[in-house]
Amino acid sequence: MIEELRRDRNLPDAALRKLIECADYDEGLFHHADEVRREYYGTDVYIRGLIELTNYCKNDCYYCGIRRSNAQAVRYRLNKEDILECCREGYALGFRTFVLQGGEDGFYTDKIVCDIVSAIRENYPDCAITLSLGEKNRESYLAFFEAGADRYLLRHETADEEHYQKLHPSAQKLSVRKQCLWDLKKIGYQVGSGFMVGSPYQTTENLIADLRFLQELMPAMIGIGPFIPHHQTPFATCAGGTLALSLRMVAILRLMFPYALIPATTALGTIHPQGRELGLKAGANVVMPNLSPVKVRKLYELYDNKICTGEESAECRGCLERRVASAGYRIVTARGDVACKSRREG
Ligand code: SAM
Repeated sequence: MIEELRRDRNLPDAALRKLIECADYDEGLFHHADEVRREYYGTDVYIRGLIELTNYCKNDCYYCGIRRSNAQAVRYRLNKEDILECCREGYALGFRTFVLQGGEDGFYTDKIVCDIVSAIRENYPDCAITLSLGEKNRESYLAFFEAGADRYLLRHETADEEHYQKLHPSAQKLSVRKQCLWDLKKIGYQVGSGFMVGSPYQTTENLIADLRFLQELMPAMIGIGPFIPHHQTPFATCAGGTLALSLRMVAILRLMFPYALIPATTALGTIHPQGRELGLKAGANVVMPNLSPVKVRKLYELYDNKICTGEESAECRGCLERRVASAGYRIVTARGDVACKSRREG
């Protein structure tokens, strides 16, 4: 089954179900996923400097610590100067991709976002600018693109309508989220999507639907990580996603989407001390250290016990360098655009 998945980048649902549900295939999955990742990317691990620009959010996702209804969250916003300072520090540390992520915060009008993006583009012409600001209309995405943004991260969260409505209030619609992804792709962004592993009510069929949706979308980046409960959300007492299933899904993704940029996420590092290293060994090839000012890091609390909230950017960068090397890979400072063709195919 694993060889078939590797060869065809696809399997029928029944075989996927077996791989997802049974731990017996893990060793083989990780082995093949690592071989494929080396074939496409060698031992390179790309770094993305994450700047968490706001924790205000108009949305009310039941799983998220910065949801609108969390009245206990202490809110913050970074201004253009704060963001440029993060970029300055990041550039000196070797970052060539800046990821601006935040809640859906109406304070950042299109004009403000474009102003920030153009300033980064002007100061750092050799860097990729990734946005992750949630759902916008096509015109806004186009304006950001024209201002200099290259990439956009928007996880679809779950590709199943019913499951989506169990995770979000009725005002938030899967169809809108999917449309955003298609709009982004059409405009010319390198698009990243993905989902949480082990989110409440998730079934194996939901995970298969996620894989099928990704096969349609064919994103350049695929971000997945375990769901981790946050104590001030409706899902406070739900079980979190497991390390085993998260790693298994990373390996399956690598085999289905060999070219993809797949991060070993902070959430993975939060549920296990070696979570990110294990993620890399299962096929991930990106890490996203935090470049946000230390004074706001704890406030961007999507889930409980989030790691890397106390260290300065340089410490995070050094720590990850060691972790990546200990897993047998190497951080590279290149922009790290998607591999269009395999090394084998030339
Ligand atoms: N607002 C933007 C959006 O909707 O894409 C970006 C910010 S949002 C907080 C970033 C990601 O955090 C979401 O796509 C979600 O998958 C993840 N996330 C939120 N709460 C989480 C939790 N409790 N456990 C794991 N991941 C979580």
